[in-house]
Amino acid sequence: MSSNPIAPMTSRQRVLAALNREPTDRTPVCNPTSVATVELMDLVDAPFPEAIRQPELMARLAARSYTELGFDTIMPVFSIIQESSALGCKIQWEQKDNWPTVRMSEPIWREPEDIKIPADFFSHPDICCVPEAIKILRKEFGDEVAIIGKTMGPWSLAYHCFGVEPFLLMSLDDPGKTKRCLDNLKEITINYGIAQIEAGADAVTLPDHATGDLVSGEYYERYLLDLHIEFAERIPGHIILHICGRTVDRMDAIARTNMSAFHYDSKNAPQESMDIVKDRIALVGNINNPQTLFSRGPEEVRKEVFENLDAGVQMIGPECAIPLQTSIENLKAIPRAVKEWHKQVDTK
Ligand SMILES: [Zn+2]
Repeated sequence: MSSNPIAPMTSRQRVLAALNREPTDRTPVCNPTSVATVELMDLVDAPFPEAIRQPELMARLAARSYTELGFDTIMPVFSIIQESSALGCKIQWEQKDNWPTVRMSEPIWREPEDIKIPADFFSHPDICCVPEAIKILRKEFGDEVAIIGKTMGPWSLAYHCFGVEPFLLMSLDDPGKTKRCLDNLKEITINYGIAQIEAGADAVTLPDHATGDLVSGEYYERYLLDLHIEFAERIPGHIILHICGRTVDRMDAIARTNMSAFHYDSKNAPQESMDIVKDRIALVGNINNPQTLFSRGPEEVRKEVFENLDAGVQMIGPECAIPLQTSIENLKAIPRAVKEWHKQVDTK
């Protein structure tokens, strides 16, 4: 007999409870970022780059995280270039075995005053396909599963539009200019987030790539903390912040944003991370991609899942968008390990 007093929940109820840091019948398995793989694309005939640009294919491929892998979430925004494409960045679209990328050697802007959001931005096909895919998924799955959208933060958008190096140099040399850039870009983040919540998403992932290796915790507080607080106030749904790399030096600040969750990287140990954020924000993660999910097996996956659960991490999933060649077997090992852990712990 289980000692967990919570009645059985649907996947959606489970994820929403975890986002609210409320009790769940079991810890949900979530993918705030892509779990698309070449194997899954072949299975449903929805390959990249078409599945990044056409809502029906996007929805069909995304649904596999729930129907095939057994996750509690569906997240149809596989790429990080939807907004940048609509802003006029040059995109290398690639094929099904590779991610599309922004050609950052050809930046479109140099100064904050150059930032011009095209009048047709929100009717651009690469923008519209995301809310359309969310609507398709909500119609198909109703209330049974959580649907997560994605809106890129201004720091990430600035990398794409100004180039990583020029923008990082600007952030070192000229804080005023850097803040004007972020301010001019933030409405994109807010309005795209709102559009996806209105289309039926339960939450949006907000990647803002002030990553551990490029930007310090002090910079996070200087440039992004206030903006992230503003996002939490103005986007009327759950926000899952996503920043890669070692981030313990900014987790205290992240815990003060009032966002619902932080999608954290395996470069941070589960327990040390939980000790910092305490009960101020939920954590989701942090199964390692390049080693564990990509090149090891279910046994190693299980070990990392257990480490997160032992630390009290509220949602379990891969640390970031998984490599496209990841095996389905390793992904299915995540929900299996979560259920196994609960069987052991809840019956104690
Ligand atoms: Zn990432």
